[in-house]
Amino acid sequence: MSADLGNTPVMRQYATLKAAHPDALLLFRLGDFYEVFGADAETASGILGITLTRRRSSAGDAGVPMCGVPYHAAEGYLSKLMAAGCKVALAEQVETPAAAKARGGSGALIERAVVRVLTPGTLTEEAFLQAHEQRVLAALVPPSHKEQGGVAWLDLASGEVGVMVVEAGLVAQRLASLPIAELLVAKDMADDAVGPLPRRAVTVQPGLFALSTAEGAVRQAYDVQDLAGLGLPNAAVLVALGAVLGYASLTQLGRLPALQVPKVIRKTQVVGLDAATRQNLELVCGLNGRREDSLLGVLDACVTGPGSRLLARWVSDPLAEVALVMARQDAVRALAADAGGRKRLRDLLKATGDVARAANRLVLGRGSPRDLAALRQSGQVLPELQTALAPLAVPLVQRLAGPLGDLAPLTARLVATLADDPLPLVVRDGGFVQGGVRAELDEQRRLQRDGQAMLAALTDKEAAASGIGIKLQANAVWGHFWEVTKAELAKQPKVPEHWIHRQTTTGGQRFVSAELQSLERALAGAAQAAQVLEEAVFAELVAAVGTASMALLGVAESLATLDVLAALAEVGAGRGWVAPELSARGPLEIEGGKHPVVSRTRADFMPNDCVLAEGDLWLLTGPNMAGKSTFLRQVALLVVLAQLGSLVPAARMRLGVVDQIFCRLGSADNLAAGQSTFMVEMVETAQILHHATAQSLVILDELGRGTATYDGLAIAWACVEDLVGRVKARTLLATHYHELTALARDGANGLMGVSAHGNQHGLVGVSAHQMLVKEWQGAMVFLHQVAPGAAGKSYGVQVAKLAGVPKPVVARAAALLEGFSKASQSRGVVRMDELSLFAAPVAVQTAPEAVMHPVVAEILATDLDGLSARQALELLHALQSQLKAGSVT
Ligand code: ADP
Ligand code: MG
Repeated sequence: MSADLGNTPVMRQYATLKAAHPDALLLFRLGDFYEVFGADAETASGILGITLTRRRSSAGDAGVPMCGVPYHAAEGYLSKLMAAGCKVALAEQVETPAAAKARGGSGALIERAVVRVLTPGTLTEEAFLQAHEQRVLAALVPPSHKEQGGVAWLDLASGEVGVMVVEAGLVAQRLASLPIAELLVAKDMADDAVGPLPRRAVTVQPGLFALSTAEGAVRQAYDVQDLAGLGLPNAAVLVALGAVLGYASLTQLGRLPALQVPKVIRKTQVVGLDAATRQNLELVCGLNGRREDSLLGVLDACVTGPGSRLLARWVSDPLAEVALVMARQDAVRALAADAGGRKRLRDLLKATGDVARAANRLVLGRGSPRDLAALRQSGQVLPELQTALAPLAVPLVQRLAGPLGDLAPLTARLVATLADDPLPLVVRDGGFVQGGVRAELDEQRRLQRDGQAMLAALTDKEAAASGIGIKLQANAVWGHFWEVTKAELAKQPKVPEHWIHRQTTTGGQRFVSAELQSLERALAGAAQAAQVLEEAVFAELVAAVGTASMALLGVAESLATLDVLAALAEVGAGRGWVAPELSARGPLEIEGGKHPVVSRTRADFMPNDCVLAEGDLWLLTGPNMAGKSTFLRQVALLVVLAQLGSLVPAARMRLGVVDQIFCRLGSADNLAAGQSTFMVEMVETAQILHHATAQSLVILDELGRGTATYDGLAIAWACVEDLVGRVKARTLLATHYHELTALARDGANGLMGVSAHGNQHGLVGVSAHQMLVKEWQGAMVFLHQVAPGAAGKSYGVQVAKLAGVPKPVVARAAALLEGFSKASQSRGVVRMDELSLFAAPVAVQTAPEAVMHPVVAEILATDLDGLSARQALELLHALQSQLKAGSVT
């Protein structure tokens, strides 16, 4: 590489650093720019849209590709590189040009070193992170046939750590619950990962995943000898955790943030939600990509960034254990009932900062005096917060209030040491330490202050003695000097002997004296000494933060949790939601439920009921736009709300908690995805039938739409049988296959009459429901109301009319429809065993094409205006005889 890059000293230095970071894009600081060379330059110029040039060491040489970004605008460029999934190593100048010169004479090479490696999952800088957004670094040890795998994740900015066991077939589902910015997989294990890895996956050297390395990393990070205390559930989890910590430490050049004890998330503790279900239910992000239009968007009344981040985790991982849910719900109910207490709590929370992120920026050596100020500010609120929480006799609240006292010593120290706000963003700027903290610092500051007065006094003295009007000035090159204008010099050309001429300018001349110079030195020394002293105080405070880091993380977690609980109470109380009654097993019963997102902006939202015992399945029919999809999602969202501890938009709700939710949309609603929809549908359906249990909730919206009518019907039919017969999940299924309503026990409203065959009265648990629609003056009115029975009539024609299909075409369609239904009625009641589905083996039938009668076709093709009365009559005769002839066959 060094040969390619040219053989100048700087390029040799570059090559050495690049060799140490071969897998990262190296940004190399040269003066005011970060320069990128070689293949890195080609990558970076493409992503950043900046010009690619060549660096040549001599005129004839081909040179190396190169591009650069100004260092003061680097953040924006770095963000883009992170968004593109790059890994970036930042090589800085680690000494000043002056220091290099002092060390090695003029022309000495400035020392450079990689000070930071940035990857999408390891960012801590405020500039790259939104307050309400979490990103985690995760590692996966895929399950094998014999053993379970493990996932570990780390939020480097806040120090949160979590682990979970993953079983074969559930890897993607578990990963989908996390806001993963970067997923580490060992190169040799990548193939074992069942199914495709997420987009954010990066393969790393297997060494990072070696058991001994991983153990070492975990021991060191948690400073424990015995790993048993961490309660890690299996070796795969330990290895994953070790890999995450090892990688994080590499990117932080050996440092790690203050770490929370790993949270172990057990599979039985959370509701199983796969990626498709999360997306279809729009949990944390709407199908349109907007957070505001998601369930999270509706719930997020949090007043702090950490609260918003925690709420996103709660929405992503609803709980499946009643006791865990009830602990939260008790707190939410108490806060919802106490508007005054809630407001006081939220006002206090608003005054707190992002404790975990501020603390960890400091611990990672990237903190500023402002981070200390944020900790002081938060700490000062805590006693009041404890007082405000005291009257709330709820176990969870009292548990959260406990740790709030632990920060008193650190807070007291910060209050006693830090100056008043605003504090500087960089330590070097100084001025953030209070007077009276360090006698020596006070002395240097006095020197600085008095120095100004002494300079003024000296100036006055010289002016009086010389009789020359002089003015004290200062600049970066000369420091302080006296300026004498031309006019003054004209009056008094002879200046005192001890004045030293420094410069002649257009306006006059500049002088100093030995006395002025020594005063100048004392002053500069005082500034320098003060800076060193302030840096030392800063380092001590950072160390104190490090020592208190466990207490800080505990407080941060309490504050975030309180914020979430208060936000849930605020939203629930504000919108008149009720507390659901939860039990371990039992039916799902909703009275007057509303869709939490859709009803937010629709005052006229029609509430609906739903009752599903285990093994019950509702077949929901109704025209397009009647509200089927909304109803289906609403039921699932109410379950999510109930199980994350929230109140729910309903008059009443009872729920035997669900273990998993599966929500599938037929292709009609999913066309934008542009995949082979039928295949996708079948893969997803297979997953449901494999994994759903009697405690699961299954939502199928227009399943089987991606294929030919009879295929789809057959598959939907078989799925229904399996879901109620074997799986016994609680299921809602919206369908346009009216034939399916034959499966309903009480589906007599449907197309089907009672069958002659004994065992075909429909399936136990299956019932038909419809979205009510009213016809009014020939138009259709959607009532958005769910009622028993099957929608008996197709409203397609009315929908066509609503949609603005031209009147003649609508009229024509109505006439045709009339004809079709008469024809089918004349054949009498359709028997169930006439459906090909009941024939064994299933006969393959082609869908009946909508064949147009030749007579109709001829009428349509005739230009009536062009006919004479006689011609019309002749045509009518001809058509009639054609019809009579046809009816014989
Ligand atoms: P479908 O799936 O039957 O085609 P959708 O669920 O997509 O119907 O709903 C169609 C429209 O009706 C949407 O604009 C939705 O906002 C509205 N809607 C659905 N349910 C209700 C309701 N219960 N009350 C009021 N409007 C509703
Ligand atoms: Mg729909």
